[in-house]
Amino acid sequence: MMKFADKESFQGAGGYHLLPLRFRRLPWDQERVFVSSMSGDWSVMLRSDLDRAVGGDLQPSESLFADMEARNLISTDPDRSTLAPLLSQYRTRKAYLQSGPALHIFVVSLRCHHTCSYCQVSRQPTSKSEFDMSGLAAGHAVDRLFEWPSEQLTIEFQGGEPLLHFDRVKSLVGMIEARNKTEGRSLRFVLASTLHDLSEEQLAFLKDHQFQLSTSLDGPEWLHNANRPRLERDSYKRTVEGIGRGRRALGDDAVSALTTLTSRSLQVPTDIIDEYRKLGFHSISLRPLSPYGFARKTAVRNGYGISDFLRFYEVALGHILAVNRQGYAMEETYGSLLLSQLLTPFSHGYVDLRSPTGAGLGTVVYDYDGQVYPSDEARMLAAMGDDTFSMGRVDQPVSTWLTSPAMKAVIEAGVAEALPGCSDCAYVPLCGADPIDHYARQGNCIGHRPTSDFCRKQMGLFDLLLEKLETLSSSDRTTLESWVFRSHQTASDMKEVA
Ligand code: SF4
Repeated sequence: MMKFADKESFQGAGGYHLLPLRFRRLPWDQERVFVSSMSGDWSVMLRSDLDRAVGGDLQPSESLFADMEARNLISTDPDRSTLAPLLSQYRTRKAYLQSGPALHIFVVSLRCHHTCSYCQVSRQPTSKSEFDMSGLAAGHAVDRLFEWPSEQLTIEFQGGEPLLHFDRVKSLVGMIEARNKTEGRSLRFVLASTLHDLSEEQLAFLKDHQFQLSTSLDGPEWLHNANRPRLERDSYKRTVEGIGRGRRALGDDAVSALTTLTSRSLQVPTDIIDEYRKLGFHSISLRPLSPYGFARKTAVRNGYGISDFLRFYEVALGHILAVNRQGYAMEETYGSLLLSQLLTPFSHGYVDLRSPTGAGLGTVVYDYDGQVYPSDEARMLAAMGDDTFSMGRVDQPVSTWLTSPAMKAVIEAGVAEALPGCSDCAYVPLCGADPIDHYARQGNCIGHRPTSDFCRKQMGLFDLLLEKLETLSSSDRTTLESWVFRSHQTASDMKEVA
């Protein structure tokens, strides 16, 4: 519920005005509410105290009065100048809007040697080189890359398996670096790969250009091999070898891993975390399945409900905290981002947690065939035969993409504060809009929040983390708070892929 300030009607005996606020009853304590300001400041208070505040009955002598004023929930001075801190905080939280897309995903090939049942990208057999990006498309894509204004550009190479078309990775890096001699942008290269069959020559190139490697590791050997089969049944072994070789060549911090959760994975949260610890990872990303590509076809076998995911996540979080208590630092990256939203006023680079949406405004995807999409999910939908979100082609200027029907549809449904359900939600200043996900799952970009998996996940995780912050021991709480700092180090332009 949101209440808007109205000087005449809300000035009560306490001599204050309400500022725009939203509230939510705590699921674990119905007598208290989470109350947020329009810029994401928040406080937990008794429902009866919120009633008094809304009724104009707070007294300046009360500590709650000072607390609500400090959090921009009430104001004693109607002058615009007193709103400056609130507006400044709002600008800070939305700072990702100032520079345009910083994450640019180049899909150099759809070929892959895996046959993952949950694959989101409609991979192609390794022999089908017609699914490789051409030199012409690559040249146009580099021209477009530098049309965007962002001073920091993250260039991520993806597939399929980008190592199967490594010559294109090399030529793109060469073109981008040559062009950057006059552009002077800050460049960061990422390779999203299985890391199988990495050659010494490839490793040397990746090292020379300071690549970060992002791979997929689904958990223990039996689970990884079941989720990510190769004909040789040695996917886990090859991935672990690739991680080791990547670390030796580029450094431990240059290699990160993501896990995709199938219904099998949900049975073994502690085993997955223990596997990451065994392999020396200090962060893990627990992401549910997406309804794209082959994942849609195998949903009956691999799929599960968001309530199952949330139960899994709570057990996994408890185990990660236990691992930290044993002296091994480990964080869960999505939880870190949500905590950073809760505990700091800063902006972040994670494109799925933005309002306005990060699709096309934070990320651009250059597909192997020269089509351009505002997100990886849009590309996956196109691979399934629905090109609603194609922004255009690489030989068209960026201005054409931004005025495309695809971007119009994305932006119209991409501001969470204006969406039905979200507009009244106390978490909206900290949450994001995901119009393409809602289109894929619910058939339209606006979506229906009460039945939205995206919303259930967001609300469930915010509720869980808030409850944990209140009820955990002080040492566990300190661990969660320490993740916030790390999330600012690692989340810049982050997007889950691979
Ligand atoms: S998606 Fe759900 S949790 Fe997020 S702001 Fe909208 S209603 Fe709230």
